[in-house]
Amino acid sequence: MAAQETVDHKYVYDFAEGNKDLKDLLGGKGANLAEMTNLGLPVPPGFTITTEACKAYLATGAEPAGLADQIEAHLEALEREMGRRLGDPDDPLLVSVRSGAKFSMPGMMETVLNVGLNDRSVVGLSAQAGQNDRFAWDSYRRLIQMFGKTVCDVPGEEFEHALEEAKRARGTTDDLDLAADDLRGLVDAYKKIFVKHTGREFPQEPREQLDLAIRAVFESWNAERAVVYRRQERIPADLGTAVNVVAMVFGNLGPDSGTGVSFTRDPASGAQGIYGDYLANAQGEDVVAGIRNTVPLQELERIDKKSYDELLGYMARLEEHYRDLCDIEFTIERGKLWMLQTRVGKRTAAAAFVIAGQLVDEGLIDLNEALHRVNGAQLAQLMFPRFRLDHEFDPVAKGVGASPGAASGKAVFSSDRAVELAAQGESVILVRRETNPDDLNGMIASKGILTSRGGKTSHAAVVARGMGKTCVSGADELDVNIPQRRFTVGGHTVGEGDVISVDGTTGKVYLGEVPVMPSEVVQYFEGTLDAEQRDNPLVRAVHRIMTHADQLRRLTVRANADTADDAARARRFGAGGIGLCRTEHMFLGDRRELVERLILARTDDERENALAALLPLQRTDFVEIFKAMDGLPVTVRLIDPPLHEFLPPLEQLAVNVAVAQERGEDVAKEEALLAAVRRMHEENPMLGLRGVRLGLVIPGLFAMQVRAIVEAAVAVVRDGGSACPEIMVPLVGAVQELETVRAEAEKIIAEVVGESGVEVLIGTMIEVPRAALTAGQIAEAAEFFSFGTNDLTQMGWGFSRDDVEAAFFWRYLELGIFGISPFESIDTEGVGRLVRIAAEEGRAARPGLKLGVCGEHGGDPDSVHFFHSVGLDYVSCSPFRVPVARLEAGRAVVETTGSDSR
Ligand code: ADP
Ligand code: MG
Ligand code: MG
Repeated sequence: MAAQETVDHKYVYDFAEGNKDLKDLLGGKGANLAEMTNLGLPVPPGFTITTEACKAYLATGAEPAGLADQIEAHLEALEREMGRRLGDPDDPLLVSVRSGAKFSMPGMMETVLNVGLNDRSVVGLSAQAGQNDRFAWDSYRRLIQMFGKTVCDVPGEEFEHALEEAKRARGTTDDLDLAADDLRGLVDAYKKIFVKHTGREFPQEPREQLDLAIRAVFESWNAERAVVYRRQERIPADLGTAVNVVAMVFGNLGPDSGTGVSFTRDPASGAQGIYGDYLANAQGEDVVAGIRNTVPLQELERIDKKSYDELLGYMARLEEHYRDLCDIEFTIERGKLWMLQTRVGKRTAAAAFVIAGQLVDEGLIDLNEALHRVNGAQLAQLMFPRFRLDHEFDPVAKGVGASPGAASGKAVFSSDRAVELAAQGESVILVRRETNPDDLNGMIASKGILTSRGGKTSHAAVVARGMGKTCVSGADELDVNIPQRRFTVGGHTVGEGDVISVDGTTGKVYLGEVPVMPSEVVQYFEGTLDAEQRDNPLVRAVHRIMTHADQLRRLTVRANADTADDAARARRFGAGGIGLCRTEHMFLGDRRELVERLILARTDDERENALAALLPLQRTDFVEIFKAMDGLPVTVRLIDPPLHEFLPPLEQLAVNVAVAQERGEDVAKEEALLAAVRRMHEENPMLGLRGVRLGLVIPGLFAMQVRAIVEAAVAVVRDGGSACPEIMVPLVGAVQELETVRAEAEKIIAEVVGESGVEVLIGTMIEVPRAALTAGQIAEAAEFFSFGTNDLTQMGWGFSRDDVEAAFFWRYLELGIFGISPFESIDTEGVGRLVRIAAEEGRAARPGLKLGVCGEHGGDPDSVHFFHSVGLDYVSCSPFRVPVARLEAGRAVVETTGSDSR
């Protein structure tokens, strides 16, 4: 039986058997090592143990049946190919044991180099290298150090102390000055450390070293830091890691050897050129560990021109093959170049656009592919103001970029203090270990938030994103002392009132004020760049990719805009209309008084007078907005919030009445207002007298608004302009509500439109679950639906947004009840289902029914893809998100039809 299973299940692949598309099985590192091998690049031979073997091990705590035999068989093949046996005392084969999951998780998991060395083979290794004792003992001490630390949990500092000690004894700070004897002594010291912590001798048996190292790599998948990282990066927890066993090549053989990393383009700016670091006479981990100073890759040309030219050749090859920016790890062993790793490299948002544009120019990818390779989150990042950074500003700490933006201000350590200083007009940054619901007011008052604990789903991160406020979370280098109102980091102490700067995009924290510069991408959309600025690579790439997205997309993108200014900006940002023009602001300011008269009216006359006074004011507002959107549709929502929102708060009125009485003044009006507020008080205003219900209860209110809208449209048309009003009724749950409003509106429209030719649509929001479920009926009375996904989410989940986000969303995210707040990205399974049902049944009842979305989800990338798939006509979002929605609407098309996959 066991033998049968062995045959059935293949757990080990030779590099020659894999390819780059097998990342699920071989991990990114293994798949790409295989790809490079098959391209004929010089990769040291080796094999990959699959993620399936890892998953089986993690599930049962034991290696799956057949794995040991397969490793043996592949090891034998490797030994034959290399002409050496693992750990042979005279001429040992050494291997590295390297982790490598599907998604790169930098520094999260383990690698052990020089496996196969022991007290005897170290002598053989030296002989092999031409009696190079120094090299052999250096390699051995590295093995004990890495093996001890990663496989047996020996505290790494102990090895580092011993190394420091050895250098001090030699009177040097450079490990290259250590001679063979020093290193031999260091091996003894390391072995003692090993025994002290593990209670056993350092294992001398090479195969045991190999098996333990493989096991340690499997187990590193569940190391705490890896778990935390995955949660932050939303990498699934059940993928497992592959293990690569690779014949060692040696960069520590002398000055003609070395190791380095390189990028085929600048991952920060996307610029073409040679970017990388090289370190002579070293093994790979030294480069990352920053033990010695690396030199820029360009210097390799002087050190070893042959290897340099060869490397540049491979870099070009890889870029052409992957058709993307690659990053590379390599080692030179006595003048011979070896490729140890490559992958499609991470990059900044700016570089993503620039590189995609360049690759199109170079004919390596087409525009669809370029569009596929950038995304709305990156574009959104590029639209925030950024810090103007030069060499003067080095970050003092780095946390998680939890909510993007750049903010400078005085550090404060309590919510109260934040509110106090902000009230005095100061910019403040709220610094906490972590935030909780009590910090809400402080967060609102601050320019930015900085915490030393918690990741992307912490309370601070979730709430800050909800508010659109810059936030760096989990900057764990900070030692935050709340009672003493200060934090320390890297020898600096920052007290209350000291200015700091936080970058919520990169997670970096700076001391002092860093100047902020506007986004050139926003300036491009605004049309304020001159010809030279427009020619910069980033702006060119954005322009090109946006143009392509606009040509492809099926969704129209509209904006939510309540004023002529917002409308004009939305138009510059590419909006094809207004999807939501709220009218409540038209009842504020000096118009409050009219609203009060309306609410307090005791007779029809009083009420009609108040409405008649409001009419011309609203009409003027609409004229301005229609002019700004000339020719494009404008959806105006009739008044939605409960009217008591326009009255002063109860406490304030009570005080006013008391004070006036004291002074013996006339309190009739104050008392009437107070009584009205008491009468209108609601336990659940979100579910109370609002939306269409107002229109049905307060005679003439909607009629006045409809008249103002239509008269404004007619006026604009008479002026030679063009206006396309769409009147939207909020909070409808039953077709009868809409029919009643419609009947009244149609009379007014017929009367006002006259000969002007203005066409007015009447439609409704779908934001109450009952409306979604009876959409077939409602469509009979509606020419369009606009999904109000904020309310639909609130009522679909039974969440009061203002309460839940601060109170417990962080916990729901932590528990994985949802992966992202349903207010940030639409819950496709539940709320999305309501949208789908309403779209289908609405269109079935009325084929030409226009469908759109006007919740904040309209500007969220994943939600845009969902709305595309449901077949809506448009999404509407805040003006600032319009470009993001345009880009994603284009990407949604590419994703459904596929980009080129040469
Ligand atoms: P990480 O995923 O952390 O980059 P790697 O598995 O790539 O870990 O190993 C780290 C470094 O160790 C590599 O960059 C390389 O320089 C070195 N290394 C790994 N395998 C070998 C090998 N077979 N020969 C020489 N150096 C190696
Ligand atoms: Mg690596
Ligand atoms: Mg609503």
